[in-house]
Amino acid sequence: MVVMMERTPFLPLPEGMLIEQIETSQTDLVVCVISTHPTSCCPLCTEPSSSVHSSYQRSVRDLPCGGRNMRLLLTVRKFFCRNPECKRKIFTERLSPFVEPWAKVTNRLCEAIQAIGLSTSGSLGARLAARLGIASSGMTVLRRIMELPPPAGSVVALGIDDFSFRRGRTFGTILVNLEKHQVMDLLDDRSSKTAADWMRSHPEIAYVSRDRGKEYTQGATEGAPQATQISDRFHLVKNLVEAIEPEVSRCYKHLRQAQLPLPPPALPKADEWRQVPDADVVRKQRAGQASKQERFEQAKDLFSHGVSVKEIAGQLGMSVRTVYRWLDREDCPAHQPEPKEQTERLERFEQAKAFRLQGLSQKEIAGRLAIGVRTVQRWQARETCPYSQPRRKRRSIFDPYAAYVLSRWQQGERSVSLLWQEIQSQGFSGSIETLYRFVRALRQDSASLPAPGVADRVSVQKAIWLLARPYEKLKANERTDLAELCQASQELAALYSLVQSFGQMVRQREGHRLQDWMQQVKTSRFRDLQRFARGLHRDKEEVLAALTFVYSNGQVEGQVNKLKLIKRTMFGRADFPLLRQRVLHAF
Ligand SMILES: [Zn+2]
Repeated sequence: MVVMMERTPFLPLPEGMLIEQIETSQTDLVVCVISTHPTSCCPLCTEPSSSVHSSYQRSVRDLPCGGRNMRLLLTVRKFFCRNPECKRKIFTERLSPFVEPWAKVTNRLCEAIQAIGLSTSGSLGARLAARLGIASSGMTVLRRIMELPPPAGSVVALGIDDFSFRRGRTFGTILVNLEKHQVMDLLDDRSSKTAADWMRSHPEIAYVSRDRGKEYTQGATEGAPQATQISDRFHLVKNLVEAIEPEVSRCYKHLRQAQLPLPPPALPKADEWRQVPDADVVRKQRAGQASKQERFEQAKDLFSHGVSVKEIAGQLGMSVRTVYRWLDREDCPAHQPEPKEQTERLERFEQAKAFRLQGLSQKEIAGRLAIGVRTVQRWQARETCPYSQPRRKRRSIFDPYAAYVLSRWQQGERSVSLLWQEIQSQGFSGSIETLYRFVRALRQDSASLPAPGVADRVSVQKAIWLLARPYEKLKANERTDLAELCQASQELAALYSLVQSFGQMVRQREGHRLQDWMQQVKTSRFRDLQRFARGLHRDKEEVLAALTFVYSNGQVEGQVNKLKLIKRTMFGRADFPLLRQRVLHAF
């Protein structure tokens, strides 16, 4: 089918180019285009000429139209150059920027392929292009991306940071124009030399914002000696937070020690309310014990006479599994003697307690009992010997009701007779004395029980966050937690004021306060913070610059995140040049 027309809104062309004819087939559109400019300029001497020498046809591909491939048949003219000074006698008319002189595709098609390649690259890009009506191979897509020139331009304030190619194994460098918020380049390592070489080609750099590592410091010193180096504020705050972490942990430890002993609000220890077991329970237990011992011996005896396990279980009214378990043992389970080791540990534990009351130091106690100092410390934090538990609990008829009474007690019910009636109605058949003993133990416990501290509610990590965040950004409940923390621990309060003071210095860029702040830290008790301050002192000019100039690497972190996203779409075939192109031309 052949259509004759001059111009169509469906196919915009540059001024002076006219559609002569359109041929359509199932898959293709072929558009014949002629140029109607009366003159053209010589590419060598730029003199315009109107003397046409000849003409010929060029075929170039263009953006698809309605899902059809688009081919333009351009009638291109040749002109004589009439400038006697010019060496060129004949030249071809120029159609750029629509299409470059020797190109097989229009510039707008090339840009479309690059855009596809920058989002998906390679064979996936080629498949997407085909779906959009653009015939292209994976190689072409890649080639088109690699043709893109690096973003030109000068950089006054440069941000530099590293990024990882493979999860923390190999690293590259990202360079960002901090004024234009634009990635300038990627380098395939993070050495000072590579960074310095790059900076040398940009003598216009006036500021370099960098992390506090050695490589970039050296790189900037060598590659851009004219520039002011700025210790990056993002990393300054990050380092501060790292420094206060052990401090906060220590404060927490002190807080917890001050709160000891800290029994959890639970059932009182069994011994305290079962000093006198109910007589009938004791009787039942003894009876049970005796018969158990008897049955144990009978089982052994029957087995030794060749009776099967199943039969034994049937005769004695027990499960097969119990019989098996019994046959494996020497003694009846309930009659195990306490292991010797256990008894000795218990004795040492009690001795340690006694020594402590006598005022012996932890080290002395450890020496006398021939145990580790850490064990002594651990023991001092507890009331009962840690390993004295495994003894089998005696059962009381009160047991099933203990949890209920405890919960009523926690709700505030203090009337023993009322509680007794309540559990009687649930089936408790024991005496009110048992209940009294239980309640007495509860009273003692709640008297010595400190209110659950803020340290139990707020984790160390959360506390660090509360200390480091600007106060105005905290939510109401976070402010309450912070206030309670500072109230509970003077140390934390002191740490808070130092951390906030530093944060404000960074945010408001109050470099003039740095000296004062470091002095305050020096006279404080915070060792790790002091180490941080000494580091600042070594790096003082750059830190001062950070606390003075507006530039910072905050946005570089954002660019690194963008880079990670792109890297992830590359299926791990992250060969560096392609990654670089895709990051530099990302949109
Ligand atoms: Zn010329």
